[in-house]
Amino acid sequence: MDFLLTDELSALRARVRRFVDEKVIPVEKSVLAEAAQGPSPTLGRLQSEARAEGLWVPHLPKALGGLALGPMGMCALFREMGRTPVGARAFNCDAPDQGNMDLLVAAGTQAQQARFLVPLVNGAVTSAFCMTEPAPGAGADPSNLRTQATRADGGFRLSGRKWYSTGARDAAFLIVMARTSDDPKRGASMFLVDRRAEGVRYVRDVPVMSPPVLHHVEGELEFHDVFVPDEQLLGAVGDGFMLAQKRLVPARLTHCMRWLGLATRTLELCKPYIGTRTSFGKLLAQHQAIGRMIANAATDIHAGNVMTLHCAWLLEQGKDKEARAYSSMAKTHIARLLCQTLDDAIQMHGGLGYSDDVPFQGWYRMARAARIADGPDEVHEMVIAREYLLGRLDVLV
Ligand SMILES: Cc1cc2nc3c(=O)[nH]c(=O)nc-3n(C[C@H](O)[C@H](O)[C@H](O)COP(=O)(O)OP(=O)(O)OC[C@H]3O[C@@H](n4cnc5c(N)ncnc54)[C@H](O)[C@@H]3O)c2cc1C
Repeated sequence: MDFLLTDELSALRARVRRFVDEKVIPVEKSVLAEAAQGPSPTLGRLQSEARAEGLWVPHLPKALGGLALGPMGMCALFREMGRTPVGARAFNCDAPDQGNMDLLVAAGTQAQQARFLVPLVNGAVTSAFCMTEPAPGAGADPSNLRTQATRADGGFRLSGRKWYSTGARDAAFLIVMARTSDDPKRGASMFLVDRRAEGVRYVRDVPVMSPPVLHHVEGELEFHDVFVPDEQLLGAVGDGFMLAQKRLVPARLTHCMRWLGLATRTLELCKPYIGTRTSFGKLLAQHQAIGRMIANAATDIHAGNVMTLHCAWLLEQGKDKEARAYSSMAKTHIARLLCQTLDDAIQMHGGLGYSDDVPFQGWYRMARAARIADGPDEVHEMVIAREYLLGRLDVLV
């Protein structure tokens, strides 16, 4: 295993770090405030600058204007972008668009790429990924999928209900998972659905714990007999679960990278207060209980970082199947450490930590979703335990 970054990647990482430090972080509050009212001009300016500096969509192939980074390169850059909740968007690497772009690159036809991928790459539109349904439909267990796609002349007719489709309100198109047969393995298919197609009803923004961050509004949708032509089927009929896996492992890992960035910045932001605030005759940083919180966070972040790099390295070797259980480990570990690090940051700052004068409480509310989205902790633990008990998971790699 070689986790060292090439010189080229190290230089690229330094450029992204500088861009985030000097250009994005100073305006992150304004971007969030503007985006809550509509399109953010400040974000638009950042995006133009990222494009001019050759840092736009770096995860994509060069033919699409990217830098063909691969998973290790994505690790190097996405951690830097993740240090602010608006970082990934500035480079057009944010969820769910980034995962959807990668899926369209892997499974889209030329015509699908021209129509759906290119505008997404250019930042002209956004997209959403619609898998989860309100109970009793697909959730932690995708085999509960209820949305039906039935054959029609020249295409399919979709009927069903989805929720937690992040970004669906403003998206130009949706990638919708629907049932095409009762086959347990090949019973689902994916469709590229125009958000404004006849029969697509946007029910509501689901009110959630965190205020929306940029376009991350959680949408609920109904599909009433929506006609989807054959040319908007993604992959083949029955490929749905396979494509979902193909999208989920790398997309999950990119979440891990961004979360590591945010946890690292959280820890950094603790230094000034604990290094200057005195309590019971000593600086907070000199109290053992505070030192323990810092040490635990630093250790957890480092462990999560190594887990993510290992997983990225496996993907780079083409070992996608082997990477699955390790990606589950990384995802649960990093989602928890992010929540814990933010909770501890609030604690170390006392009343200030609970206030909006520091960013922790807002980030904490956003971070709490990490333990649920992309599969709850318990489902990942189920996968890890199953693979271990079947002798397919080597814990001393
Ligand atoms: C902020 C946010 C954004 C999201 N974005 C998207 C998106 O863009 N597209 C999309 O399709 N979905 C999205 N989701 C949905 C997310 O993937 C689901 O919420 C998740 O998969 C869990 O499904 P569920 O909510 O139906 O929970 P349920 O399936 O109802 O599970 C409820 C709880 O039961 C427990 N549980 C479930 N299975 C097991 C088990 N095997 N063992 C032990 N306990 C278990 C877990 O604690 C789980 O949290 C998002 C969710 C959030 C919170």
